[in-house]
Amino acid sequence: MKEMQEKILAEGKVISGGILKVGSFLNQQIDTDFLKKMGKEIAELYSGEKIDKILTIEASGISIAVAAGMEIGVPVVFAKKHLTSNVDGAFYSADVHSFTRDEDYSVVVSIDFLSQGERILIVDDFLANGQALNGLLSLVKQAGAEPVGVAVAIEKCFQGGGDEIRGRGIRVEALAAIESMSADTIVFRNN
Ligand code: 5GP
Repeated sequence: MKEMQEKILAEGKVISGGILKVGSFLNQQIDTDFLKKMGKEIAELYSGEKIDKILTIEASGISIAVAAGMEIGVPVVFAKKHLTSNVDGAFYSADVHSFTRDEDYSVVVSIDFLSQGERILIVDDFLANGQALNGLLSLVKQAGAEPVGVAVAIEKCFQGGGDEIRGRGIRVEALAAIESMSADTIVFRNN
C-alpha cells in the first residue's frame, strides 16, 4: 500500500532496538481517515476468501481489526493480555514473548468467541519476530478454527517472523513491508 509507505516515511521514527514509532497515526493518535483506508485495503486483499471473524490482540491491533471488520462485515474478537473478570469460564491461552517490552505474557480468549470450523482472519499492527501472531494462531488452532491468513499494517521483514509463518503455508499480507531501516533510511520490500 503506497500510502502506508508514504505515511511511514513522513511520520515514522526509527529508534534504537529496531523499533519503528508510528504514534502519530497508529499507536497512540489514530488517523481515522487513514484507518478507514487500511480497513478497505485489508478487505480488498482478502476479498476472495470466506471470513467469519477477525482475531486481533489488545491494544494496538484493535483499531485496524475493527476497520477491516466493518469493511468485511464480520465481528472482531480481541485476545486479552491479562485474565480479567471479562474473561469468565473456560478460555484458550498461549504464551507470547513481547518484542518491544522483552517480557512474557499470555494471550487469552474466552471459548465463547472462537468456534470449531470458523474461518478466522488475524490482524495486528506490527509483525516482527512473529511471536504475537503465533500466539493468536495457537488460539485459532486450540479452537479447531481455520486461519484464513494474516494481515498486518507493518511487517519488519528483517526480523523474519513473516517469512517463518509463510513457510508454514499461512498467507501473510502487510500493508507495508520494511526490508531494512536505520535512523535516516527506510527500505521497503517491493518498492
Ligand atoms: P512480534 O511478536 O512479531 O515480535 O512483535 C509484534 C508485536 O510487537 C506487535 O503486536 C507490536 O505491538 C509490537 N512491535 C513489534 N515491533 C514493533 C515496532 O517496531 N514498533 C511498534 N510500535 N510496535 C512493535
